[in-house]
Amino acid sequence: MEANRAILEKVKVYGKQESRDAYVIRDFLNRSVVTFEWVPVSDVDTLRSNFSLNVPADCNLPIVELPGGKLLFDPTIEDIAFNLGWISKPKQKEYDVSIFGAGPAGLSAAVYAASEGLRTVLVEREAIGGQAGTSSRIENYLGFPGGIAGADLAERARQQAVKFGAEILHIRKGIKAQFIDGKLHVDLTDGSKIIAKTNISATGVQYNRLELPHEDKFIDLGIYYGAGSSEAVLCANEHVFVVGGGNSAGQAALNFSGYAKKVTMVIRGKDLAATLSDYLLKRILKTNNIEVLYNATITALSGETILNEITVTDTVKQTATNYSTRLVFVCIGGTPNTDWAKDTAIVRDDAGYLVTGTDLYKPPFLSRWKSAFTPAFLETSVPGCFAAGDVRHNSVKRVASAVGEGAMAVTFVHRYLTEKHA
Ligand SMILES: Cc1cc2nc3c(=O)[nH]c(=O)nc-3n(C[C@H](O)[C@H](O)[C@H](O)COP(=O)(O)OP(=O)(O)OC[C@H]3O[C@@H](n4cnc5c(N)ncnc54)[C@H](O)[C@@H]3O)c2cc1C
Repeated sequence: MEANRAILEKVKVYGKQESRDAYVIRDFLNRSVVTFEWVPVSDVDTLRSNFSLNVPADCNLPIVELPGGKLLFDPTIEDIAFNLGWISKPKQKEYDVSIFGAGPAGLSAAVYAASEGLRTVLVEREAIGGQAGTSSRIENYLGFPGGIAGADLAERARQQAVKFGAEILHIRKGIKAQFIDGKLHVDLTDGSKIIAKTNISATGVQYNRLELPHEDKFIDLGIYYGAGSSEAVLCANEHVFVVGGGNSAGQAALNFSGYAKKVTMVIRGKDLAATLSDYLLKRILKTNNIEVLYNATITALSGETILNEITVTDTVKQTATNYSTRLVFVCIGGTPNTDWAKDTAIVRDDAGYLVTGTDLYKPPFLSRWKSAFTPAFLETSVPGCFAAGDVRHNSVKRVASAVGEGAMAVTFVHRYLTEKHA
């Protein structure tokens, strides 16, 4: 499993072009840096006749063909991960540090913790890389003057963490956390349990939704959350819409512009300068096939089974225009993944972000501060429980800061272990 995934023999994915399940598989494989071939087919009969694939006539699409020829029919992400050999149970009875979330912050924490001799487990519910893994090109991360695809950066970090001995549990989620005898006991979705002396929460944020009628019906059938880097090559001759004016939306628009007929950015504000890095803004304004609709918001989605039309409303002129499209990428920020903490003593802000360090002494959190200990900079209101990256109250929301906080959190873990568990 821990061989370089990029050099695996090619996985093939067969499915209908407009299939939600096929999109979810492509997105997962792309973010996991698994080289795969996408083969759009209309039905199983075509698959049998044109591709000589020996599949039952009544089987379900999509089908994943693994290196070696094993076929998975309409598989879940868990099935695929299991068959690629990525699913394992926790190996140790107890860890020095458990890390939740394998975005930049969690991966960085895993690299530093494992390289410094801590028994380290890293738990990730989806694909390695987090939000950064969905970025087509990160250009402002130190050391990569030509930029690097987010999934590549994540894969390198994954290999580094594994090299130092970090244990990675894929497609697993922490659902319930309890603090017993000063240790964190976490129940995972597959029924297994992790016990650790310390914990770093690096669970990041989840994309916000448009909150429109019928949005559920079109999820992954025309409405995609995030920058959709797996889909760019499939956008030839399409009119693609990107919602949002931040850096992730800007990167997505530029990436799609290399493939699509036209890219339209839909932004609520009256300019992009306030929300977009200058280098992205200049490139967007220079790219002929990118159009920006200012003061604009999508107000309706329609289509029979897949999305084929959207309505965009100009909020100043109060006019509505319909556009034909089957590809809308929503990059409008997110909310923190901290539901797991709601029954614990960990203090969260109103939006759900984890409050750490001296912020705990300030209003409005001061009144909820019930402890006598002095928390370290990245320590939550529960001693030994740290937060790093986007999930933290007042965090910077950049790859570099998440990586930095992941590394820094490990230093605080050492201090805590020396003082409390020596
Ligand atoms: C498309 C896009 C492009 C971007 N481009 C740039 C850029 O060019 N430069 C830049 O500096 N920043 C960029 N950003 C922002 C940057 O990616 C984030 O700031 C960074 O990824 C935050 O890292 P993180 O590790 O804190 O959280 P995340 O990246 O959000 O990772 C959190 C991880 O935790 C997992 N998780 C959540 N809950 C659980 C649970 N209960 N159990 C287990 N796992 C869980 C999630 O699945 C996820 O993998 C971009 C963001 C996006 C979306």
